Amino acid sequence: MPDFSSLQLIAPLLQSLEEAGYTQPTPIQSQSIPHLLAGKDLLGIAQTGTGKTAAFSLPILQYLANKPHKIEPWHARALVLAPTRELASQIYESLQVYGKHLGFFFSCIYGGVGQDKQVRDMKRGVDVLVATPGRLLDLMNQGFVKLGALEIFVLDEADRMLDMGFIVDIKRIIAKLPAERQTLLFSATMPTDISVLAQRLLKSPVRVEVTPAATTVDRIDQKVLFVESSKKTRLLCNLLVQESVDHVLVFCRTKRGADRLVKDLTKEGIGCAAIHGNKSQGAREKSLGNFRSGKVKVLVATDIAARGIDVDGISHVINFDLPNEPESYVHRIGRTARAGKEGTAISFCSASELALLHGIEKAIRKKVPVDVAHEFHTQGFMGDRPVASTIFNGKKKVELPKPEAEEVETLKAVIREVTHVSPKRLAETPRPLAKTLESSASRTALRRPVNLGELRPSRRVKRPAGLAPAHQKSHSR
Ligand code: AMP
Repeated sequence: MPDFSSLQLIAPLLQSLEEAGYTQPTPIQSQSIPHLLAGKDLLGIAQTGTGKTAAFSLPILQYLANKPHKIEPWHARALVLAPTRELASQIYESLQVYGKHLGFFFSCIYGGVGQDKQVRDMKRGVDVLVATPGRLLDLMNQGFVKLGALEIFVLDEADRMLDMGFIVDIKRIIAKLPAERQTLLFSATMPTDISVLAQRLLKSPVRVEVTPAATTVDRIDQKVLFVESSKKTRLLCNLLVQESVDHVLVFCRTKRGADRLVKDLTKEGIGCAAIHGNKSQGAREKSLGNFRSGKVKVLVATDIAARGIDVDGISHVINFDLPNEPESYVHRIGRTARAGKEGTAISFCSASELALLHGIEKAIRKKVPVDVAHEFHTQGFMGDRPVASTIFNGKKKVELPKPEAEEVETLKAVIREVTHVSPKRLAETPRPLAKTLESSASRTALRRPVNLGELRPSRRVKRPAGLAPAHQKSHSR
């Protein structure tokens, strides 16, 4: 593994890296930096936690230092586009760390705060501008940001940008870029729409791919705990009082769920803070600051707010709710076990989340070990995992509590997903279908004991969140 000096970085950058305590480049850094210093375009397949921020920031800073010139007001020499305010702020902070001895001027533009400071920054001209798409476009439309003199453009976390619906904004921004420029695109995954975007944006790019999702998660001690939805808060409290659980990021699916959980934990005397899209920027930064400094041991977050959170020493990630997208699971648990440290990821799974768990296990290509050693291990699950085979062949009767309405809907949708049989037909003709169901049940998340008679037809079948119809599935991964 080369050290930073063998990457031909200039002395002020080497000094900052030394002060930051970096001794060796990460793989994405050693593979990207030489090409970027040579002015090449780059397609980087890497996720947060791999050191990709330094991989693009260091060459940008070196380029600017080697080619100094005056910046016109309202212009920037380099632009880094990031999907969320948190990620943009982190990139901005990293630039300040790496560029400490170079005297460049950076600015960070994102929504949710007043625009006055951002406009003042632009008025003087900016060396590296970090921005989220919405506010950037807003300021461009008002004439406060001009991209005509841009020399380097970085599109970070492109897949997440698309997931968040920024494609139109991004296309508008791209349309304003000068043709002559260096372009870098980073994405954790490479679905077709990103490949198309990359082809449009990049000229003969170097492709660098590091740490596929599956290998990152291998370093993390993962467990799943089966628990009824109504018992999740009590289970969480039990875990949080354990001494080893000292710096915990808890994920909820909804903003309201996150707020409710913070209230419940506070009532139990557990210091916690929330971070989600309904919080003001000031409130988010305060929560993050309190968590970072250890003032509170628990940060409760939703997916979008947590994207890119870079807090060292998170001992545990707890999925209070499983995410709808398997890839979010990988991103979530990647907040722990950073920089070579150990980390634990605990996922709570209620019966209605089994399909989501199955999707995750498929994506990470392994089974998440089940921890049954807790007070709330769900009754009605057999062995360590819920199974359903006995239900479908009808040979063995299993007495079970009647599933909640939500679970019935989920199970119906799962059956329809794997058998392509409507719930109506299923309920009308359960016997001929039993065999199909039996074999498909072993391949699906439908492993919870259930009586087919409970699956009465209903007019509207709500597809469980995260379950795309079979014909749409391939493109989501
Ligand atoms: P990133 O993927 O850019 O979000 O970086 C993840 C974390 O790794 C950040 O906390 C960086 O400060 C840290 N980091 C980046 N490069 C290095 C390096 N070469 N050595 C040690 N830590 C690093």
